[in-house]
Amino acid sequence: MKVEEKYDVVVIGGGATGAAVARDCAMRGLKTLLLEKEDFAYGTTGRCSGLLHGGPRYLLTEPEIVEASCKESGVIQRIASSLVFRVPFLLLVFKGDKYGIDLLDAYFREYDRYSRARGGRPHTVLGRREVLEANPLVSREVEGAIGFDEFGVDVFRLTLLTALSAEKHGAKLMTHCEVVDIGSSRVRFYDKVRGRLLEARFEVAVNAAGPWAPQVAKLAGARVELRLTRGTHLIYPRQLFTTAIAMQAIDGREVMLIPHQSSMLLGTTDEDHYASPDEAYPTRDEVMYLLQAAYRAVPALREVKPVRAMAGVRPLLPEWGKREEDVTRGFRVIDHEELGEASLISVVGGKMVLHRLMAEEATDLICRKLGAREKCRTHLEAIDGELSWRAEPTPRSESYCCECERVLASGVKEAVREHARTLVDVRRRTRIGMGLCQGVSCSYKAALTLAGELKLSPREALRQLRELLEERWRGRWPIAEVSSHELTELAHGVYSCLAALEVYA
Ligand SMILES: Cc1cc2nc3c(=O)[nH]c(=O)nc-3n(C[C@H](O)[C@H](O)[C@H](O)COP(=O)(O)OP(=O)(O)OC[C@H]3O[C@@H](n4cnc5c(N)ncnc54)[C@H](O)[C@@H]3O)c2cc1C
Repeated sequence: MKVEEKYDVVVIGGGATGAAVARDCAMRGLKTLLLEKEDFAYGTTGRCSGLLHGGPRYLLTEPEIVEASCKESGVIQRIASSLVFRVPFLLLVFKGDKYGIDLLDAYFREYDRYSRARGGRPHTVLGRREVLEANPLVSREVEGAIGFDEFGVDVFRLTLLTALSAEKHGAKLMTHCEVVDIGSSRVRFYDKVRGRLLEARFEVAVNAAGPWAPQVAKLAGARVELRLTRGTHLIYPRQLFTTAIAMQAIDGREVMLIPHQSSMLLGTTDEDHYASPDEAYPTRDEVMYLLQAAYRAVPALREVKPVRAMAGVRPLLPEWGKREEDVTRGFRVIDHEELGEASLISVVGGKMVLHRLMAEEATDLICRKLGAREKCRTHLEAIDGELSWRAEPTPRSESYCCECERVLASGVKEAVREHARTLVDVRRRTRIGMGLCQGVSCSYKAALTLAGELKLSPREALRQLRELLEERWRGRWPIAEVSSHELTELAHGVYSCLAALEVYA
């Protein structure tokens, strides 16, 4: 077994939280190793709605979380400005809805107070005619709306650039490395790409494994309890309108249609989840529940077909006797004492928008343990990077590898420099296969380019191609009933022939 050198800190998990802990530790001069079992943003981070929102609905129960989220939204807008976009929202009100316009107006007056920290404009109240002028696709049954601002972010690049910033400050990043054992001052991890077991020693290990945190704690004989809730989104391949729409579902919960990059997300659900976080799949009931709410608010949506569904698992703090959506979005930094001389810390709960703050609190604790005196600077230094390869190709230069998402072949090569080790990793960095064709017309081109870059054998290149197509297909079959039949047939045919897949007929 290869033994890595000794680190001050080993961070387990490369979601938004783990990447931010690694960055903060490295910026404070601590020798840091980050271990991720798949890829950056593989977990909940890569399956969230991507909103840097205060969450107006938590105002009554958790105003301190709303305030912290609004402040952090402002911070992320400053340090990752090229990844953040404004999302103007219309919260629609229909007859029979749980909350009327007057109540919502009073409520949003309070939210305005908090939202100044994130540069959101004060809310407005719109009458029926104004709503229909702003968005003619909204149902004519609408009675009015509240207009307000939120901000969205590219979560894949936010997590990746946070990790790359950690690397720039001296951290070592290892993806596809699953921690399989945590002992007194050493971790053992398995490199799935190279097929070998490695070991690293540490002073402090940080469990930032999101919904997997209970399993990771158990490896060290420690205990973490969470309440996991599954959230499903449907994805439309283009933006149908530029304003996001919030509306009430049949049970009074809020559901949103959010323009996100080149697509539109419809979500989300909130259901207790008892299976492994690796087994979070959308159910037919969730799909129908979301569509029911969306068709009521925007009937024209019946004519537009989603291309896939995806589910993620929220790693919430455990609370008994509450409905899923009422469970706290607060977070906790837990100092376990089970490990002898070395320390184990778990960072759990929270929201993506709070990841930097969660990391700051965890790193403050690590510094106290190690006697380090450096102060946090993660809110002051930008993490932005350039996306040089998503350019217009000139006639004499290269062509697009993925036409839906306008990714050049050099994007695949750039992804390799950004720690992509598989074709699915390339998807997370470039969005290949995430557009209308869902990989049907681009995945083999990307696989060829990647095989050249990583010197993959034909067998391995084909295995990775199959892995990407299977992943895309898994998101397609829950919506087969409501998606375009022609596209589903085409995808089914290509998936079956190209990679001899076992399809879910
Ligand atoms: C549907 C949905 C919508 C959401 N929308 C929003 C939103 O709009 N805004 C917002 O602020 N929040 C949102 N959230 C919440 C937010 O996504 C999460 O709170 C946040 O992303 C959690 O990040 P994390 O890094 O803690 O966990 P994760 O992103 O899950 O990262 C944990 C990582 O640990 C790795 N790991 C696990 N075990 C091991 C091991 N043994 N060895 C090495 N690595 C391991 C996993 O592979 C994973 O990558 C949403 C959540 C859901 C489910």
